[in-house]
Amino acid sequence: MSKPVAIITGAGTGIGQAAAMMFADRGYDVIAVDLNEDALHWASVRGIATVVGDVSEESTSERMVAAALEGFGRLDTVVLNAGIAKRTEWESDDVMETFDQIMSVNVRSVVAGIRHAAPAMAARGGGSIVATASTSGLGGDPLRFGYNASKAAVINICRAAALDWGHAGVRVNAMGPGPTMTPILQGGRMTPEHLETFRRNIPLQRLGRPEEQAEVLYFLGSPASSFVTGAVFMCDGGVTANAGVFQPTSIPLSEVQH
Ligand code: NAD
Repeated sequence: MSKPVAIITGAGTGIGQAAAMMFADRGYDVIAVDLNEDALHWASVRGIATVVGDVSEESTSERMVAAALEGFGRLDTVVLNAGIAKRTEWESDDVMETFDQIMSVNVRSVVAGIRHAAPAMAARGGGSIVATASTSGLGGDPLRFGYNASKAAVINICRAAALDWGHAGVRVNAMGPGPTMTPILQGGRMTPEHLETFRRNIPLQRLGRPEEQAEVLYFLGSPASSFVTGAVFMCDGGVTANAGVFQPTSIPLSEVQH
């Protein structure tokens, strides 16, 4: 019997790369998708199939599904993970363009991904689609209303799609990372002080690791979660357990033991 096949978007770095490696290590044929061809070099070296493209363009979703069906003859799992986290400042000159870009990369990509993957999965009895949302999809962050809107939309698109595709055996879930050490956090305007503030507000007192996010993506993307659909599974060290009035008991980084 042929191996199961998983498509992972945003697989060049961070959470997507960790997920692509995990699916490959656990017996899947993987198609790694990213805008950045150089970032996919690791996948080519490992003999993993790649698709270079911008997920905000519907043609990228078409191409990645075709790569699965034509290259491997099946499609079991799609992880719609590519995303950007730009700030949106109400009074900045380019805020409308930035908002459109965030919605395009983070939300349009999920619509296009489901639109092309779900029928292909339905045609062979089902499959699992997981989209990477965020703690930022459950509430607001200062100067990030665009990102907040995009991740809230991802969550409700997954819920609605779970209703639309359940009859065909296609499961659709959202996964919500909390702050995780990847280039998206390390780049941009994040200072060491910002990261320390994040850390102290996380009940587990540390940031997440890409592999910890990948474990949840793997669970939701594999048959281990066969009765789970329309769910939002947070992987956030306890951030969203906090009602927001008190800071969790915090300790210095030097005393964190896990
Ligand atoms: P990352 O920046 O390390 O990786 C994102 C990858 O997506 C990059 O390889 C990038 O080239 C690719 N990408 C960006 N725009 C693309 C596009 N238009 N088309 C195709 N590929 C594109 O980020 P990450 O931290 O691994 O984030 C992965 C997902 O997790 C994102 O959706 C992000 O919003 C979400 N997330 C991350 C965190 C965190 O703290 N790291 C927290 C919550 C949610």
